[in-house]
Amino acid sequence: MGIQEFACVALVLCDNGHIKEPKRNGTIVITIPFNKPPLVGTELGYVREAVEVNRHISGDGDFTKRCNGWIEEHFGAQKALLTTSGTTALEMAAILCEIQPGDEVILPSYTFTTTATSFSNIGAKLVFVDVRPDTMNIDETLIEAAITDKTKVIVPVHYAGVACEMDTIMDIARRHNLLVVEDAAQGVMSTYKGRALGTIGDFGCYSFHETKNYSMGEGGALVINNEAFNDRAEIIREKGTNRSRFFRGQVDKYTWVDVGSSYLPSEMNAAYLWAQLEEADRINENRLAIWRAYYEALRPFEEAGRVVLPTIPAECKHNAHMFYLKCRDLADRTAFINHMKEHGCGCVFHYVPLHSSPAGQRFGRMDGKDRYTTPESERLVRLPLFFGMTDGERQTVIDAAIAYFTA
Ligand SMILES: *Cc1c(COP(=O)(O)O)cnc(C)c1O
Repeated sequence: MGIQEFACVALVLCDNGHIKEPKRNGTIVITIPFNKPPLVGTELGYVREAVEVNRHISGDGDFTKRCNGWIEEHFGAQKALLTTSGTTALEMAAILCEIQPGDEVILPSYTFTTTATSFSNIGAKLVFVDVRPDTMNIDETLIEAAITDKTKVIVPVHYAGVACEMDTIMDIARRHNLLVVEDAAQGVMSTYKGRALGTIGDFGCYSFHETKNYSMGEGGALVINNEAFNDRAEIIREKGTNRSRFFRGQVDKYTWVDVGSSYLPSEMNAAYLWAQLEEADRINENRLAIWRAYYEALRPFEEAGRVVLPTIPAECKHNAHMFYLKCRDLADRTAFINHMKEHGCGCVFHYVPLHSSPAGQRFGRMDGKDRYTTPESERLVRLPLFFGMTDGERQTVIDAAIAYFTA
């Protein structure tokens, strides 16, 4: 969680009644939090089934297999493996890329910390590239200039569930013999030219954290698009052993054979996710309806030059992971967030650029200019958007935003 998500947790606590006397001492009550974890209603029944019927609560039981199978089938993924987080899916991908100390990894500076730590933790040098202002995704036209003879991996991050320009990125990667790890943490159910995000690069990483569209509390999945990596992925995920092959009867005992760690989520978490995947279309449509209502309501202000709204390129279908807008500058954004708070709406900013952060400077460097990353990140703000938001809540957010931009 970034600083802004911590802020949002505090707001949720207020919403849960931890502040008993509204407005006392100037405390403002947030009635519409930035996020609520998705809940479709069948989650606890499936958790109970895992606990009481299946009597299997560790990893890789029936619910994990169902979730893996669902991802493979719905997204046309060669192989999907649930993990304990989006971060550990990225860490598994970094190990599978065989990162050696000094290898370079190209990624945007405008992303979550673990896009970076997954690679820098095992010795990679990070090479940050600027974003495009229209999608806040890595600017694909700047990638080639950042490649050196040390470059090994490109990590496109599909910000807000809107795809990076994957044809160009895959073409660059193939010509330079580089691997591609899609950070599709926010991109579950989104597509690029009809292909599911996460299934286009060599690896795709999903997050099922409670702030994401589909959740299991903490969790994620690694998608493997080249079957040559399947066996090693199973070993790394099973603490460096060939345990999966042992259970399939392919070897007669299981042995420590490679690097690894514990990346399997418990069945209780997988059972929660299964409930959400079964309702994935309903969740997606609900989120998209909220997104479109925000977009339509704020369009006049974009036309008047007062705000900038997200761009969805024609080849991308997005999943309404977030609705953001861009204010004029940092001061305008701060005033907007305060105004929304006064109207009970929890609006939050997002990533602080990595390249200029203390750890970013230690583990990496920016290639080329920071033309958009810092200035655009300073004026971006996200509106409340979660599954099950009521029409009234949505209208309250819209009315408050309109009041601010009209003033
Ligand atoms: C959420 C997120 C992650 C990390 O996922 P966790 O499940 O929280 O570990 C990584 N990258 C991006 C872009 C994310 O949004």
